[in-house]
Amino acid sequence: MPASLWASVTKPPIHYPQLVGARTVDVVIIGAGFTGLSAALHLRRAGVETLVLEAAEPGWGASGRNNGQVIPTLSRADPDAIIARHRVAGERFVGLVRDSAQVLFDTIREERISAEAEQTGWVQPVHSVDRMRLAERRVAQWSRAGAKVALLSSDELRRKLGSAAIGAGAWHGGWSVPAGGHINPLALVRGLARAVTERGGFIHAQSPALAFGRAGARWVVTAPQGRVDARALILATNATTATFSARLVPEVVREMVPVTSWQVASLPIPEHLRESLLPERNAVSDTRNDLRFMRYDARHRLVSGGALLGQRNAPKRLRAMVAKRLLQTFPQLASLPQGLQFDHVWNGTVGVTRDGLPHIHMIGPDGYAWAGCNGRGVALAISIGREFARGILGVPRSELALPFTEPEPIALHGMAQRLQPFAIMAARRSDNRAWQG
Ligand SMILES: Cc1cc2nc3c(=O)[nH]c(=O)nc-3n(C[C@H](O)[C@H](O)[C@H](O)COP(=O)(O)OP(=O)(O)OC[C@H]3O[C@@H](n4cnc5c(N)ncnc54)[C@H](O)[C@@H]3O)c2cc1C
Repeated sequence: MPASLWASVTKPPIHYPQLVGARTVDVVIIGAGFTGLSAALHLRRAGVETLVLEAAEPGWGASGRNNGQVIPTLSRADPDAIIARHRVAGERFVGLVRDSAQVLFDTIREERISAEAEQTGWVQPVHSVDRMRLAERRVAQWSRAGAKVALLSSDELRRKLGSAAIGAGAWHGGWSVPAGGHINPLALVRGLARAVTERGGFIHAQSPALAFGRAGARWVVTAPQGRVDARALILATNATTATFSARLVPEVVREMVPVTSWQVASLPIPEHLRESLLPERNAVSDTRNDLRFMRYDARHRLVSGGALLGQRNAPKRLRAMVAKRLLQTFPQLASLPQGLQFDHVWNGTVGVTRDGLPHIHMIGPDGYAWAGCNGRGVALAISIGREFARGILGVPRSELALPFTEPEPIALHGMAQRLQPFAIMAARRSDNRAWQG
């Protein structure tokens, strides 16, 4: 695992052997993140023979490196737009997203996973008048979809996040989803992997799938030292799909632009400051295009981060940028005797789609894949994995809560990747305009 806060505080994984030789199983899953392991867990609960191939180790991808915010909404797509586009499947999918945080916390309880889970709610502060109208629409739409959500005035938000916390005019109000919260994501992945093996599932680490295809009525996956033959296949590699082999669904890879998300963790915040700073310990991510986000971990560190222009001196620049932003938001941090200090910096890749929707595909008979979490995949991946398992267990495609589409590669995909720094600059400019306006 690359170094991170989560890698340094989480119990080491058990050893998963490499795949050596030929195996025949009912279901093969490529990728041991939340999607793959959630699918494997639900298949094993139903007694289906399941083998997971992981190129590195469970949690190596986004699942072991993220901010751990459990958010049962999508970042850019709201219920009405999803239903307008996907009709009945869209309605079911909105239900899946709505329930996804609860499903995640229930799974943690059911499988007795020590994931430092805190179901303390998720809050989205709003940084501009325009986005306040967006928050009102979101509250109306999610309420209609049956979610428990609440609109917050600027005073209510100020009380919720910490009274001295918000500089004049910075946040206009917000909304909250009590079902949300936060976790230690690497502890959750490792706990899921343990649950899968305890239920008789096979996990092979250091075993990248190099290619897969159909041989008669079966799927065949090849790895450096072995191969797997299976009735059903789940490609659960998400934004890392092209990392270990260029031969896995290139048309799905080209649906997303990979964006580097930087994470940073502070030294523990003393108790006297915590009384006024995020006193409810909510997970928080605001409405900016260049998102500001934060949460406490179990040791009371503030875990935050952001986007950077380029990689040069990245940890130093990130520390300075996040310190400035957190001090703007929570002026009481200025009283820390040594200043606000960060001792962990790391990053990961988020897959961003053009339409802000996750893209979910049937890639053949009993073959499933999805990509493009747009930064909101912790709760979502667990529920999509579960839904893939339901499909493999025989629930007809027309009854799944999955809006399947055909892959739609982005034209000039390489160019879109190279334009990332300009996208970050544009996001910052529009945030500043909205803030001042
Ligand atoms: C820095 C960061 C912060 C984020 N913060 C949040 C947050 O706070 N809240 C939120 O909701 N979402 C967040 N996300 C998004 C969320 O983490 C992801 O959407 C989610 O973890 C995706 O899970 P996954 O299992 O689909 O994919 P991944 O966790 O990426 O798993 C894919 C796995 O496939 C493996 N793999 C790849 N290729 C192969 C191959 N050829 N053979 C075998 N295995 C292979 C990889 O090694 C990896 O382990 C964040 C993402 C990042 C990167």
